[in-house]
Amino acid sequence: MSIKIVGVVGAGAMGSGIANVAALAGFKVILRDIEDKFVQNGLARIEKFMDKSVAKGKISIEQKAEILERIRPTTSLEDLKEADIIIEAVIENLEVKKDVFSKLDEILPDHVILATNTSSMSITEIASSTKRPDRVAGMHFFNPAQLMKLVEIVRGFHTSDETTEEIKAFAKQLNKESVVVNKDTPGFIVNRIMIPQFIEAIKLLEEGVASAEDIDKAVTLGLNYPMGPFTLQDYAGVDIGYYVMEYFKEEFNDNRFAPPLLIKQLVKAGKLGKKTGGGFYDYDK
Ligand code: NAD
Repeated sequence: MSIKIVGVVGAGAMGSGIANVAALAGFKVILRDIEDKFVQNGLARIEKFMDKSVAKGKISIEQKAEILERIRPTTSLEDLKEADIIIEAVIENLEVKKDVFSKLDEILPDHVILATNTSSMSITEIASSTKRPDRVAGMHFFNPAQLMKLVEIVRGFHTSDETTEEIKAFAKQLNKESVVVNKDTPGFIVNRIMIPQFIEAIKLLEEGVASAEDIDKAVTLGLNYPMGPFTLQDYAGVDIGYYVMEYFKEEFNDNRFAPPLLIKQLVKAGKLGKKTGGGFYDYDK
């Protein structure tokens, strides 16, 4: 299958980043969100990222214009009909994702791959809302998609070898490194390892063992991570980690993954970190 047009559903932090990555790699992109203001926000984010690339001399102003030209914004699902592959990046909610997949399944030709950027959810369950589960897989990018090299390719129960190979080749065309996750397990590889670390960091903070700043400093210098757990959660959005913890607790039927009270309170108070302000650092001041 030759991919020329990439459809991206959801123009938030990840969808806009993925659209940018695809356009940078030379693909035409159709970027869809439910309201025009969300699509425009996504485009503004892409433009801001590319302005930095121009300032750093990584791309020219002409290249920036060409890349933006390749991205067609829309609020109509029907416009995705022309896409050769879809990457879904809507909110981390299973019912919303299943609804998007069943609608896409209706309008797109049978051979088109439907990939999801879910951080944790079951590819098999998302695929069950379509009549092409063999053409559904996870394509998990990391934030910011333009800079992070990894894509986890996640196989659902029915994902075919052919689909996996095609996504592998596509990830390479996007200049990404990929790993194949052979079993559809919550959180795949990276988040399965990261979420328990977040939980322990929040518990240390709740217990008053150290400040958020010192926990981050310990992790960055002691484990040689580029970022500590609180900087990372505030950056990604505190809500994302919270929903993944809730999902892990349910799916693994294991209270080890239960979100600590503090993260629940931040989410319920709308203190989501960079997205809305607040977050762990403000709490700890
Ligand atoms: P976000 O809230 O920034 O963006 C989600 C976007 O989806 C919003 O613009 C919203 O309007 C749109 N949307 C909702 N329903 C829609 C629909 N039916 N059709 C089209 N658009 C719709 O969220 P995000 O951080 O970009 O996360 C998106 C997905 O990527 C989630 O599944 C998340 O778990 C995953 N993810 C997030 C990160 C991260 O660090 N933020 C990293 C990897 C994966």
